Amino acid sequence: MAVLPIRITGDPVLHAPASPVDRIDDEIRTLVRDMFETMDAAPGVGLAAPQVGVPLRLFTYGWTDEGEREWRGVAVNPELWISPLVPGMPDEDDESEGCLSFPGERFALRRAERAILRATDLEGEPYEIVGDGWLARILQHEYDHLDGVLYVDRLDDHDQRIVQKIAKKRGWGRPGVSWTPGEEHLEG
Ligand code: ZN
Repeated sequence: MAVLPIRITGDPVLHAPASPVDRIDDEIRTLVRDMFETMDAAPGVGLAAPQVGVPLRLFTYGWTDEGEREWRGVAVNPELWISPLVPGMPDEDDESEGCLSFPGERFALRRAERAILRATDLEGEPYEIVGDGWLARILQHEYDHLDGVLYVDRLDDHDQRIVQKIAKKRGWGRPGVSWTPGEEHLEG
């Protein structure tokens, strides 16, 4: 098992659609184990393969809801359906999200309240999750990564300008920048 470096915005792998997983072999199983370890070390509630430099359609998630139910798993070749967006400005307290590929920042973003995920697990067994609220947000966020979309790409013009300033100041927005959970300094 290994904690993997997490790519930061600007790395091309984060900004291009990922390819379907053809078959689940030892390489994929090892990747997923390492992704769980990386997600937990970060810590984060989700991690998509492109974030660790692998352009494949799979992500891990791990989150405990208000009712103490633990949601933890891997979604291979997922499909996602979402409810219509409720118009309006997102709430800074209740609707702010962050991303391990834009670390240390949070921005408010309106997301669909409900998401239905269909995917297969590591045994190739299909399953479905109906997620509401924060779980729906996690699923939408991770699914976006597989299409080369970061949540900061979805922010309004005002926040986009702040995002660009932050990225420039930190030397992000170019290929090859990463950070590794548990290590002190950003690399690249
Ligand atoms: Zn993310």
